[in-house]
Parts: sequence; C-alpha cells; structure tokens
Amino acid sequence: MTETTSFAPGRVEILGNHTDYNGGVVLSAALQIGITAIARRLPASQVQLSSEGIEGVETLNRSTGLARSGKWIDYPLGVAEMLARAGAEPGGFSIHFSSTLPHGAGLSSSAALEVATAVALMRLYPFDLARMDVARLCRRAENEFVGVNCGLLDQASSVFGKKDHLVFLDCRSETVDAIPLPPHLGLLIINSGVKHALTGGEYNERREQCFEAARLMQVPALRDASTAQLDSTPMPDLVKRRARHITGENERVFEAIEALRQGTPEALGALMTASHRSSIENFENSTPELDLLVSLATSQPGCLGARLSGGGFGGSIVALVEKEKSQQIQQNVVEEYNARAEATATALLCEAADGAIPA
Ligand code: ADP
Ligand code: MG
Repeated sequence: MTETTSFAPGRVEILGNHTDYNGGVVLSAALQIGITAIARRLPASQVQLSSEGIEGVETLNRSTGLARSGKWIDYPLGVAEMLARAGAEPGGFSIHFSSTLPHGAGLSSSAALEVATAVALMRLYPFDLARMDVARLCRRAENEFVGVNCGLLDQASSVFGKKDHLVFLDCRSETVDAIPLPPHLGLLIINSGVKHALTGGEYNERREQCFEAARLMQVPALRDASTAQLDSTPMPDLVKRRARHITGENERVFEAIEALRQGTPEALGALMTASHRSSIENFENSTPELDLLVSLATSQPGCLGARLSGGGFGGSIVALVEKEKSQQIQQNVVEEYNARAEATATALLCEAADGAIPA
C-alpha cells in the first residue's frame, strides 16, 4: 500500500480511578472522536509530518537517527522508532493528522496520535503485531521517546474500543475484555474549565501513600487487598483513606462488570457516583467545580450516575446518561454550572465507539 488513512479514537475513564499504578483494574470507553492520519510512502528514510491547525511541515531524515525534539512530532516519531526496534523498519513516510478531539480535554489525544501513527505505518510497510503489542509499543513510545510516564489505559482503549462496549483493562496482567453497554446509554463529558496547577506533588504523594498502605498490609500492591482487609489493618487514617479509594475502585469495577452482564446498567451509574464520593472523602482529588458538576448531573432525570474522570484536581466529569435525554441534561447542567461557578463548562455528548483495530 502506498497510501492509507487510519483513525484512532480518544478515550474516557469510566471507573477505576488511580488503580493503574496499584496493579488494578479499570473501565474506559473509546469515543467516536479522535485523530485521523493520512499517510503516504516516501523514498528511503524521508519523513514529513504535519497536523491541521499547526503551521508548516516538519521534514526529517530517519537515517541520521531521530532525537527527541520536545515538539508534538515526538509522538509519531517515537512510534516509528519503536516499530523499527520491533523489527518493522518502516521506510520513508509522510503523515498528515487531523483531530476531532477538543484541545486539553484530557481525552487522550496523545494515545490517539500514537495509535493512528502505528496503524498507518503498519499498513504502509506491512507489519503484523497483536493488538496488545500495538498498545504496548505506543505506550513505550510515549514513555521512552516522548518522556511522559503514562500507563497502558490510553493506548489500550484507543486500540481495543468497541461500539456499545466498555474496555476492561487489567493493568497487572495487561489483558482486556469488552463489556457490553446498552446502546441507549451515552456518555456526557463535561469539562469544568478549571485545572488546578499541581505544585505540591499531589500525584506523587498519593502514589507513595498507596505503596505505603500495601507495605503495611504486606501485599505486593493494593490490587491484592480488599477493603475489608484494609479496614482490619492498623495504619494512619490518611494512608488508610487513600488506600480505601483504590481497593474500593477495584471492587466497584468488578461489581460494574457484573451489573452490566446482568443487564442492570443503573448499578453502573450508582457505582460511578460512589466513586466520586470516594474521591471526595478518601482520595481528596476532587474540586468544588467537579463536585458541583456531579451534583447537578446526578439530579437530572435520565442521568444514571456521574464522577470525575482521570487524575482529578480539576478537568472533567463523565456522566452515564440516557441518550434520549442527553441534550436536555447537558443544557441544564451547563446553564446551572455557568451561573454558579466562576468558570465556563464545555460539554461533549459521546458514545462508546470502536477502537483503531477491529477484532
Ligand atoms: P491528552 O493525551 O490527555 O490529550 P497529553 O498532554 O498527553 O494530553 O497530549 C497532548 C499532546 O499531544 C499535545 O501537546 C501535542 O503535542 C500532541 N497532540 C495532540 N493532538 C494533536 C494533534 N491533533 N496534532 C499534533 N499534536 C497533537
Ligand atoms: Mg496523553
């Protein structure tokens, strides 16, 4: 193939907050929005990269070795580099990217960029990799070439997404499963318009507290502990609360899967709202703005539940809504939020969509 077009979706975390570095489990959804890559073969080791909305074309030569530039092109270059290391040896190529993901919305545009690149290059210069290996390779590009320490969730969601399904990822075994989500349900993602600058090392502090709790319970990771076990282990209250968020999230993920398999999605909604409560009480990674959005959303008819999505300390919430009522819910929540908060909300109506590589 001398020319190809690939698409890789963004994703939203549905349940399983901060579980990844605790060897835990998480539910996400690939979205219908994402990044498209139009790719062409070029001679030898020539590389040309461009992206809609970013001026100019970046021209490089892979034969002289590629170094990190600190620019956006590191994401696709990192993927080409990792493919080469895996034995694919992609020849010359040009890729033009365009995106339907809003900027800075935390919907994992970086993974979409990587996965779209990988799929395009593997078609231009035929190379076969198992789906999870594509996700791992893209993660490695981000970790090692771009220099961002992310988990596997973003890339796995972008690869494995399935229409009307959630992606279940076990971060320890690095295995995924598709969990059916009733097609009448949509995902309303609302950005609070506030992202708190984290100067106090809140993320690292919480990681350390989680590791400390695991040490005190003498388990390899919090994945190996239940909330009941945690409650019966003496430890400082703050450490226990941090850990309770993680053990609770892992348990809620398994309960949610069971509920979806039983055909009771309202239980998933309730678990999402419970997750948010745990963020407030235990992990303290919510904000007044996220709390306001969750309380406005969950008081709307047709909303099954809502929670903060992603790292926290600002950003977005995700609400599980009946598609039929989603427009009304979105309008009510945004209006009320904008009237009450000192920030402006932006909302996106999404649905669980296919990933970049069909099964
Ligand atoms: P997220 O993955 O949550 O969207 P990140 O900070 O991980 O946020 O990744 C965002 C980075 O990915 C941007 O700063 C940019 O370098 C790159 N990126 C995302 N979308 C595009 C795009 N359409 N074109 C070029 N680069 C992009
Ligand atoms: Mg990212």
